[in-house]
Formats: sequence, C-alpha cells, structure tokens
Amino acid sequence: MTKKTSKILLLTTGGTIASRPGEGGLAPSIGAKEILDAFEGSCPEAAISYEELLNLDSANVQPEHWQIIARRVFERLSEYDGIVVTHGTDTMAYTAAALSFMLRNLRKSVVLTGSQMPIDEPGTDAISNLHTAVSVVLCGIAGVTLAFDRLVINGVRAVKSSTVDFGAFESVNAPPMGILRADGMSVLSRSTVRVEDGANVILDSALCPDVFLLKLVPGTKPEIFQTLLDMGYRGIVIEAFGLGGVHCEGRDLIAGIKKISDAGIPVVVCSQCLHGPSDLSVYEVGTRLLDAGVIQGADMTTESAVVKLMWALGKTKDRSEIAKIFAANYAGESGGLPPLKH
Ligand code: ASP
Repeated sequence: MTKKTSKILLLTTGGTIASRPGEGGLAPSIGAKEILDAFEGSCPEAAISYEELLNLDSANVQPEHWQIIARRVFERLSEYDGIVVTHGTDTMAYTAAALSFMLRNLRKSVVLTGSQMPIDEPGTDAISNLHTAVSVVLCGIAGVTLAFDRLVINGVRAVKSSTVDFGAFESVNAPPMGILRADGMSVLSRSTVRVEDGANVILDSALCPDVFLLKLVPGTKPEIFQTLLDMGYRGIVIEAFGLGGVHCEGRDLIAGIKKISDAGIPVVVCSQCLHGPSDLSVYEVGTRLLDAGVIQGADMTTESAVVKLMWALGKTKDRSEIAKIFAANYAGESGGLPPLKH
C-alpha cells in the first residue's frame, strides 16, 4: 500500500531559524529555499513547496505583518493540506494569536515554528522543530498551532517563557494539542475550533493596532490612563496583580480606569501571573473594577488578550460590543480552565 503524500507550503518570514552572524550580530539572511534544502529528506511523506514572504527579526513583526501573513495563508491554503510558517520566536505567540483570530473556519493546519539556533549551526533545533510542524499537518491537527520542541500548542495558548531553553514555549492554561514522541504524534486535541459543515475559510483581518499593554507595579500613577488616551490609544490591557488586583488607596487606579472606561475606551484586565485565571469577583478591589466597567481577561494569555482587543477594535469601537466579543470563544482562547470555587 502506498502512503499518501501531504502537500505542504513552507512560508518563511525570518527569525533566528533564518539568521546568520553579521557585523552587528545575528540577522535573518537565509532564504526559504536554503531552509527547505536543509530540511530535505527529513520527512519523505511530505511534498513541500516554499515561498519567502518576509525576512525579519520578529522583534520587527508588527500588526501590519500579521495581516500580510494571514492574507498569504488565506490565498494559498486551498492548494495545500497545510501551511508551515517559519517565524522568529520573540513575537511568534502574538502572530499565532493574530492568525487564530483572522483565519476563521480553518479545517486545515496552519503551523508556526522557528528555532533557538540558526538552521545552519551545528546542534540546531531547527530541523526537529520543522519536523514537528510538518507532523502536525501529516496527522491533520486543524487550526492555527505553534510547534516547538516536539510540543504542539494552540496558537492562542502559546507563550514564550524562556530566552534560551530549546523548550521556549509553554501551553498556558490549556493542555498542549499534541506531543511528538518516538512512536509518532500523540494527539490530545484534533482542532482548535469547531467548524460548521460547509463553512468556508474566512479572512477576517481588520485590526486597530492602538492597544496598550500596561503592566502594573506598586505605585503606578492613575494619570497614566489619560496620558494613554491622549496618545491615541483606543484600548488598554492591564496586567494586574494576582487574580486581578489594582491599587486604589493613595493612588486610585480604579478612578483613573473608570474615567477612560466612561469615555468609551475598553479596558481588559488580565493577570501578571503566567498560570491560572484572573477573576475579579473574588476581592473587593476586583468587584470595584467590574463596577468601573472593565472586561475580564479570565484565563486568556496576555498575548491573546492584546491581539483580541486589536481585532475587536477592528470591527467596532462600541465598548459593549467589544465586551460581547470578549465573552465569546473563537479559537480556544478562553474557557480552558474550570471556574474558581469560592
Ligand atoms: N530575535 C529572534 C526573532 O524573534 C529570536 C528567535 O527567532 O529565536 O526573530
């Protein structure tokens, strides 16, 4: 019996995987063909074509680039069983979240990967990571995922948690979707989304990039909110303390938040803690925040909350409509944890 060959497109965008040392340090310079040549032979069940879309250090990948990547994936997906996007690790989790919201009704695999070492350095993790990404397509895990260090993570659950470990990413507040083992891919979840029969893939890539992420420290001044508004920001995500605490004695952040919230600016509250949900109903400072009109980030990663707010603001500036968008689960970004018992 002949094994079916999967058709895969390798779409490259830069990152360490494509970098070589230059005068000023590592910079992307290896093209898509060289990346594919280095991988050639590692996965005979895949017929891989390539396209070089961008060649950036992912520190330079910004919302406009997410739109370019989403559009290209949308344009080319019908020709393939899946698309592997190589990308720098630094902002890969943001791009993964963005593609998750922008590409709706995905029944095929769109997999982001990269590496901690350039593909042409001895000991590189690039080949193994590409192998994991290609395996995601071969075993048909649908939706946007991030494949790294033999782990497959839902695109809206990935967080880069280590600068130098080969296991650079974690699946936060949700189990991974797959783990590549010696005996093949152990699939824990087949798809990031439930897609209605007959629904076509939709490109839904409008965005408003004017979202600010504010990480609180003890003593943050309430005036910061008006300053952000004056600078043109249209949405704010706050990384608050623990379950969602903010200070309101001495320096009254809640008054500052209420003022901009009353002015129609959506404010989403997440936790500074990497693991576990935020829940504003537990402490008095939290319930006062809810009264001030904030939207709960619940168990979303900060990356997903920021991108979802940009995406929601791309559709509407109405704060109550944005609250409805946040209450809905589009790609597994929320509802990954059971509710807290109190
Ligand atoms: N600075 C690189 C980038 O994000 C880091 C990496 O790819 O690992 O493009």
